[in-house]
Amino acid sequence: MTTKRPPTLLEKMGLNTPMALALHLPARYEDETELYTVEEALDLGKFNSIQTQGTVIRNQVLFRPRRQMLVTIEDDTATLQLRFLNFYPSQQKQMAVGSHIRVRGEVREGYLGAEMVHPTVRVVTSDLSLPTSLTPVYPASAGVSQASIRKAVNQALQDTSLKDSLAEFLPAKLMAELLPANDWPQLQDAITYLHQPPAEADTHALLERTHPAWRRVQFEELLAQQISLKRAHTIRRQRLAPSFKSKGTSGLEKGLLKALPFLLTDAQKRVWAEIGQDLSQTFPMNRLLQGDVGSGKTVIAALAAARVMDYGFQAAIMAPTEILAEQHYLKMKEWFEPLGIAVAWLSGSLKAKEKRLAQKVIESGEAQLIIGTHALIQDKVSFAKLGLAVIDEQHRFGVRQRLEIQQRVGSELFYCHQMMMSATPIPRTLAMTYYADLDVSVIDALPPGRKPITTKVVKATRRDEVIGGLYDWLTKGLQAYWVCPLIEESEVLQLQTAVESFEQLTLALPNFKVGLVHGRLKSEEKAAVMAAFKANEIQLLVATTVIEVGVDVPNAALMVIEHAERFGYSQIHQLRGRVGRGSADSVCILMYAEPLSLAAKERLQTLRETSDGFVIAERDLSLRGPGELLGAKQSGDAMLRFVDLQRDAWLIELAQHAAELLLDKHSDLVERHLERWLGSRTEFLKA
Ligand code: ADP
Ligand code: MG
Repeated sequence: MTTKRPPTLLEKMGLNTPMALALHLPARYEDETELYTVEEALDLGKFNSIQTQGTVIRNQVLFRPRRQMLVTIEDDTATLQLRFLNFYPSQQKQMAVGSHIRVRGEVREGYLGAEMVHPTVRVVTSDLSLPTSLTPVYPASAGVSQASIRKAVNQALQDTSLKDSLAEFLPAKLMAELLPANDWPQLQDAITYLHQPPAEADTHALLERTHPAWRRVQFEELLAQQISLKRAHTIRRQRLAPSFKSKGTSGLEKGLLKALPFLLTDAQKRVWAEIGQDLSQTFPMNRLLQGDVGSGKTVIAALAAARVMDYGFQAAIMAPTEILAEQHYLKMKEWFEPLGIAVAWLSGSLKAKEKRLAQKVIESGEAQLIIGTHALIQDKVSFAKLGLAVIDEQHRFGVRQRLEIQQRVGSELFYCHQMMMSATPIPRTLAMTYYADLDVSVIDALPPGRKPITTKVVKATRRDEVIGGLYDWLTKGLQAYWVCPLIEESEVLQLQTAVESFEQLTLALPNFKVGLVHGRLKSEEKAAVMAAFKANEIQLLVATTVIEVGVDVPNAALMVIEHAERFGYSQIHQLRGRVGRGSADSVCILMYAEPLSLAAKERLQTLRETSDGFVIAERDLSLRGPGELLGAKQSGDAMLRFVDLQRDAWLIELAQHAAELLLDKHSDLVERHLERWLGSRTEFLKA
């Protein structure tokens, strides 16, 4: 029997093999290769970490204002004070009067003159030479010292197994093209260089990760990713899905088109042709339908559902919030029930009995079109014959959840078609790299008759004026939204502010009916408020961010957003998309409170100047990084560790080309490369 010892802190960080350690690359470096005199240090160390050394001439422990140790060192040129707020007896001994110590830190103007607070300290012994390479600083979790990681990495770099793990095995001809052209080192050299760059290395390029050694590593990582993407693509085409060809004029699809109160725009016709084509294939569709807020994605989902139901298969539409799912449910009922289709509803807030009933009709196949929230995958739902799953606002779902719905088809014989919808444009580089083999259709024009939205940015101190304007607005017979501040820390506090605004506005606008909707309402209550707003029984709707997506009331063309500075780009863009749907000129008022951070200021300004979803998404991307945009953050695992898709976009094409070569001509190398770079993380590529 083997006894299992608890994992070390390093192992908990996943650093349990020489290879893992070798790929644990530094976040930055410290330059300990240079030593300055104390006088130089006083001068040069103002904003930089600097290294100097001297003899301790004083060491005192103070007890006021708190326990601390003050140490003064001296060399031929000057003296310098060191301050330690936490210290051990061993350090007191190490820095006893008369010792020679080397210290490194920033110099600050302290209470008693220039000082270093908590410098790193080493005792100068005869064999303490200056290092010849930069000192790496590694990403570390709490409690793990840099010294222990450095030691482990150094050992790993000398491990004989590493030579194999980092062996150069990509086709020699390819490497002969790539290495000299880009000034790339061999892989093992690149890794060693990044851990131990020489003193004269270009630290800027190292920090920015644009150094050829970084490039080499990034290329390898991207290559692994591109191989996985291409493989996922091949695998999908080998899977079986029911083929749904258009039934022409006899189908439900035509029935729906005839019953719609509008004609499809050209953009909608084009994407529907693409999606219809996918549905007629014998392998599963995996397509993202992308279109700005209000561009009319829902009807495309309905058409796809109609096509599938024409063949006796079920279709499911899943949305991230109850309100959004409910809007879909109401719309689908309105469109499909007259055509004789049974539409079912499943959400987490249903009573147990209703839920069981819903599950029963889904399982029996009695329900043909099923609309719901996460409940569709969370609860024990099995579909009789699911032909199509539509996922709205896909970025709100985690990768795992998206995988999950594919596994709910209720048949081992075939996969269902999958379509995702998003108002958040995904830049091409991301679509190319993050999603496994995803086809993208874009609705690039809004339905006719949309009015541009005027966005105003107003200080919160002018709230009374805003309410005055609101009064005039409502007097014209129009409706409006009042969106309450987002308080991420506390849902209770958020609710409280919403109730306060609601009460204040009810008092200020006695001639009008004011409604309130928030996340804590039961779904029937929410539905009742929304229905009353839609019927103009409520003129002003006070809401928390629950209305972020999906609400559709054309007569409500004014939106006030309180504390707009707390919202992100896409949240405001989504919110604002609720107005501008009717014939009235639309206005969005972004109220902000001072002080305004620079980022918030820029955000509000951009939002005032443009309502172009692409421009906004780009700003958002540069701010938040791709993981969050795509929902990868929710999955808790990022696919790419070393590559930044914006910074390194040019590498993608090189990697794509190399991936094709490997898959075509060197299939024996494919597994080896994937294993090296992705290990267990390949599953994320399937989503
Ligand atoms: P989103 O893409 O944001 O989900 P919706 O599907 O909710 O947008 O559509 C927004 C509104 O536009 C809805 O009221 C919908 O009925 C309407 N709509 C969709 N397509 C058209 C069209 N071709 N002509 C006129 N109105 C349309
Ligand atoms: Mg929508």
